Amino acid sequence: MTDLPPPSTKKLGLVIDLDTCVGCQACATGCKQWNSGGMAGPVTDEDPYGKDPSGVWFNRVHSYELEKTEEQPAMTLHFPRSCLHCETPACVTVCPTGASYKRASDGIVLVDEDKCIGCKLCSWACPYGAREYSEVEGVMKKCTLCVDRIYNENLPESEREPACVQVCPTRARHFGDLGDPESKVSKLVAERGGVALMPELGYAPVNRYLPPRPRRAGNEVELPVVESTSDATPRRWLDRILRR
Ligand code: SF4
Ligand code: SF4
Ligand code: SF4
Repeated sequence: MTDLPPPSTKKLGLVIDLDTCVGCQACATGCKQWNSGGMAGPVTDEDPYGKDPSGVWFNRVHSYELEKTEEQPAMTLHFPRSCLHCETPACVTVCPTGASYKRASDGIVLVDEDKCIGCKLCSWACPYGAREYSEVEGVMKKCTLCVDRIYNENLPESEREPACVQVCPTRARHFGDLGDPESKVSKLVAERGGVALMPELGYAPVNRYLPPRPRRAGNEVELPVVESTSDATPRRWLDRILRR
């Protein structure tokens, strides 16, 4: 089993706006493109042009048609899913070799592939389905928060952010320090009532999702207005979707 470092004050993560995500998959393909050639690469594919293609994707975008209910009008929701860089991640503590680890300096959760024995315990432990096993290489992989971009002094400063954030055409993805209440991302989360995914499980995810703004469709019911991060309505709504 692997120990966690003391809690870091810096908590780097993503904020994803479900109001403006259009499900275009640019973040998924941009992620794959960058990481295939980066420190986490190769990000493998199996039978990519066959009837049943599969492979490693650090970021997957799921789209749902939501029926009209008392809480919401009928709508399409696009839901990007990647590692949430939890503060107390089960995928790390369950790892028998120390391959899975959380960085003390900035909270990023990573895998040291040289130590990974491919036992898959971490993927069973992660309730968010964020781990990706490479059948080709026999090792576990995952979102690195583009650690090889965000500190990369060979890149212009404006490009030192995750690939998925850079390529999103609707600017639905944001990156920053969620441990700093004065950061842009923390202020955005406070302003929009951002929520953590299934916090009741106790792993303290760092990433946040911004719920869709209230929609009006003819005389249909409006979504309730979210006033604070403690509001349970959008969280219940997200949880229901993730459990499908
Ligand atoms: S690139 Fe942006 S808009 Fe497109 S699926 Fe990803 S988050 Fe949504
Ligand atoms: S698959 Fe690798 S990273 Fe995951 S628990 Fe096993 S050794 Fe650790
Ligand atoms: S932060 Fe980097 S590794 Fe993680 S989903 Fe975005 S592009 Fe992929």
